Amino acid sequence: MNTLPVAVIGAGPVGLAAAAHLHSYGQPFVVFESGPAAGAAIREWGHVRTFSPWQYMVDRAAKSLLESTGWRLPDAGHLPTGDELVDRYVAPLAAHPSIAPRVRYNARVVSVGRKDFDKVRTRGRDAQPFEIRLDNGDVFEARAVIDASGTWGQPNPAGSGGVSASGERALGRVAYGIPDVGGAERERYAGKRVLVVGSGHSAFNVVLDLIALADREHGTRIVWAMRRDDLESVWGGGASDALEARGELGQRARRAVESGQIRVLTPFRIRTFEHLEVAVKVHGALRNEPVDVTVDEVIVCTGFRPELQMLSEVRLGLDAWLECPTALAPLIDPNEHSCGTVRPHGARELAHPEKDFYIVGMKSYGRAPTFLLATGYEQARSVVAKLSGDVAAAERVELQLPETGVCSTDLAIAGGGCCSTAPAASVPAEGAGCCGGPAPAGVEACCSDDAAAKAEGKSGCGCGTAEPVLLKIGAKGAR
Ligand SMILES: Cc1cc2nc3c(=O)[nH]c(=O)nc-3n(C[C@H](O)[C@H](O)[C@H](O)COP(=O)(O)OP(=O)(O)OC[C@H]3O[C@@H](n4cnc5c(N)ncnc54)[C@H](O)[C@@H]3O)c2cc1C
Repeated sequence: MNTLPVAVIGAGPVGLAAAAHLHSYGQPFVVFESGPAAGAAIREWGHVRTFSPWQYMVDRAAKSLLESTGWRLPDAGHLPTGDELVDRYVAPLAAHPSIAPRVRYNARVVSVGRKDFDKVRTRGRDAQPFEIRLDNGDVFEARAVIDASGTWGQPNPAGSGGVSASGERALGRVAYGIPDVGGAERERYAGKRVLVVGSGHSAFNVVLDLIALADREHGTRIVWAMRRDDLESVWGGGASDALEARGELGQRARRAVESGQIRVLTPFRIRTFEHLEVAVKVHGALRNEPVDVTVDEVIVCTGFRPELQMLSEVRLGLDAWLECPTALAPLIDPNEHSCGTVRPHGARELAHPEKDFYIVGMKSYGRAPTFLLATGYEQARSVVAKLSGDVAAAERVELQLPETGVCSTDLAIAGGGCCSTAPAASVPAEGAGCCGGPAPAGVEACCSDDAAAKAEGKSGCGCGTAEPVLLKIGAKGAR
């Protein structure tokens, strides 16, 4: 077993960060990437500008590896597009001489399991190597597996119940993700009636790009459908967001809606897609009243979910609805904790019943929407430390994350406090975070209130476990 490599699935930024950390520990590894080059998923949204500046987009071990070849961090405050992220960081990292020979491209992993052991068999299991199968039939053995394959390939459907609406998949007029409506896909959308479905950052990007297209291409009309009951909860933390561009994106989308440039349907539940000769009729319910919308194109931006079929023979410990590792779920459940100020976490929270198997990166969040690359890098660092026997480093927290400025557990609590169990005295000071600021490094807590409570020997302030509360915009200055 000890001579076998660690297998990393996915040569995205987090898989490659894991590779850089494995290299720094002198561990043999192999990376399997389904695309023809590193960053294949990001290339599909290459035209989109990120909301995180370069300073949060680069892993520390990867940075030192790259700097040894003369590479320099691009302007720390600049917001790269997806293409820039790949061109200036992901691709050079994959090409580094310590990593390049160990990456296999056009190598889609279709199954992971223990050699000769199905999921049921226990005795002797941990001593068996992992067996990784590729779509071309090749089989590889590994002593550990880090699945960093992202979620981009598994978009959520438009159907409001989480399954495809009747007729949804049969149509050529439904696109998923963030098509480049003003560039490569311009022909398809110019002068058309377009329905955008979803209420996250991807939808904001698509709607804003369509508005820009409508300014140039007469006849382009936009209908925006969301499931949300309360539009106020859609726009994010605005000026309170520590990632300025993320806050601004929500505010630009809000201004577009308020200007009346687009027709908004909310709360709208999509029931069926009816294929007309030259258009599509979407049947849905607007505030429980039947409503039909006829458009030329539909763009579905309802988030992503993890691909778990390839892991069906792995003993996974997943949360029942988020499909993320069980211990991570309370920190990121959007029903309870909408803020992105998720406390940094690592090997301990990411562990599964299957020994030496980890899911990191975007996929580790399952269906939860608030993943940030910086989180993924911290995960990769901790997991690789654990797999390399460096327990102290695996347990250490080495990251403070930027805040969203809006947190559902911080709201609707009379007298303030970040949750129902926090004392009123913990009302965040002006300029502090929505939960009273991120937890100090080294403290196992979700925010500074939680850290203070735990330091006093209490079980915590409860913000990770607060009852669901009504969301409202949590601009700190406005509270
Ligand atoms: C439009 C957009 C904007 C974003 N902006 C930001 C931002 O500003 N800041 C931020 O912190 N985060 C941002 N994110 C979130 C997140 O950081 C990115 O999605 C990031 O790319 C996740 O990295 P990853 O390595 O986990 O997954 P990915 O980048 O998706 O990489 C996974 C890799 O695995 C490969 N793969 C998939 N399945 C298999 C398989 N079965 N076998 C082998 N290989 C496989 C894929 O081809 C891909 O190359 C953004 C996400 C999107 C979609």
